[in-house]
Amino acid sequence: MAAEVLAAGGIQVTVYDRMRSVGRKLLLAGRGGLNLTHSEPLEAMVRRYGSAAPRLAPALAAFTPDDLRAWCAGLGQDTFVGSSGRVFPTQLRATPLLRAWLRRLDTLGVERRVGEEWLGWDGTSLRFSGSTADPDLSVLALGGASWPRVGSNGAWVVPLRGDGITVSPLRAANCGFDVAWTSVFRDRFAGTPLKNITVSCGGASARGDTTITTAGMEGGAVYMLSSMLRDRIEDEGHAVLTLDLLPDVSVTDLTRRLERGRAKDSVSTALGRIGGLQPVGVGLLREATGNAPPSDACRLARLAKALPVDLVGVQPLDRAISTAGGVALGEVDGSFMLHRRPGTFVVGEMLDWEAPTGGYLLQATLSTAVAAARGALEWVRREAPRGA
Ligand SMILES: Cc1cc2nc3c(=O)[nH]c(=O)nc-3n(C[C@H](O)[C@H](O)[C@H](O)COP(=O)(O)OP(=O)(O)OC[C@H]3O[C@@H](n4cnc5c(N)ncnc54)[C@H](O)[C@@H]3O)c2cc1C
Repeated sequence: MAAEVLAAGGIQVTVYDRMRSVGRKLLLAGRGGLNLTHSEPLEAMVRRYGSAAPRLAPALAAFTPDDLRAWCAGLGQDTFVGSSGRVFPTQLRATPLLRAWLRRLDTLGVERRVGEEWLGWDGTSLRFSGSTADPDLSVLALGGASWPRVGSNGAWVVPLRGDGITVSPLRAANCGFDVAWTSVFRDRFAGTPLKNITVSCGGASARGDTTITTAGMEGGAVYMLSSMLRDRIEDEGHAVLTLDLLPDVSVTDLTRRLERGRAKDSVSTALGRIGGLQPVGVGLLREATGNAPPSDACRLARLAKALPVDLVGVQPLDRAISTAGGVALGEVDGSFMLHRRPGTFVVGEMLDWEAPTGGYLLQATLSTAVAAARGALEWVRREAPRGA
């Protein structure tokens, strides 16, 4: 995106990527339908970025979710708002968008040099695995450190820190968590989705789906609370996540239903048949009670509505959806230019911000890229160090 804005502004741009092709993480995100942004009002969206919100707000206001959708439409990729307010391309894939985008960059004269890993600086030059370059300005958009096999591996932390730039430790965001499941539960339910539940911890809650994994739990609802759960596990060694397995039924209603129907049913039959609980939910109740769910209807209903699951670890960064930490926002100016290296801009997941899933990751990535490129155009016109 930075390349597009710079090239459209008359700059000769070369894109370097360590992989053999560009945009691999975008293609990976496309497997989940490519949630490009969110349709909620901008003020609500900005709050999703937590402590980084004040620094990201101007960039989000300058390249808004509507601008992002218009940009997609300009590439022939219409978008739609899903029932959750999330925005997707109509085709629910990244490939057509990326193809159209690369064609546009070709038309703008952007050169692509793939299989070239940036290793650091030699004075003011950029050192790559196969060459060096001495551009008038550069934009670092090297991503975080999740899913390194699609490109971003976080190795850039070393040269940046070596240059005296503060980089907060890279940590998993929108990640799964470890649970010490019994082998019986794991064997039966690993891979099973737990649909439409509410999860809560420390006063925060989220509604959606999660999936039971061999190691623990992952998925949308858990990701919504993942930064808080991660911090709590790092501080206290574990975090208790409370699940409401039947968020649309009150404890009183569920108790009544169970009391009416339970006489001849087993606990699991009663919960499944009368309570409407999925088998995986019944399994979780058994898991939480050492395979001895309460026989009393009220206690059983209360447990189904507030089931504790002990999260004992954070799943590794390389499997996370995104990365927290990165280049400290104090290191860059309003256009994301490094104070220590005028003419070098940093954008996207490399910067120290995090947000839940919901389109917020791509939106902030693209908004910071636009802001940096516009800032770079102004900077180059102001400074024109070598008449660029
Ligand atoms: C499975 C999955 C699904 C996702 N789904 C969504 C979604 O639906 N919606 C959403 O908003 N977000 C989603 N994300 C997150 C989103 O893809 C990222 O936040 C976004 O791609 C970050 O963009 P970026 O440009 O900062 O980094 P990246 O997209 O990671 O791009 C960085 C590029 O830099 C290259 N690179 C890295 N180091 C070097 C180096 N030293 N030298 C040269 N090149 C280098 C990499 O090869 C890569 O091409 C998903 C992520 C994952 C893993």
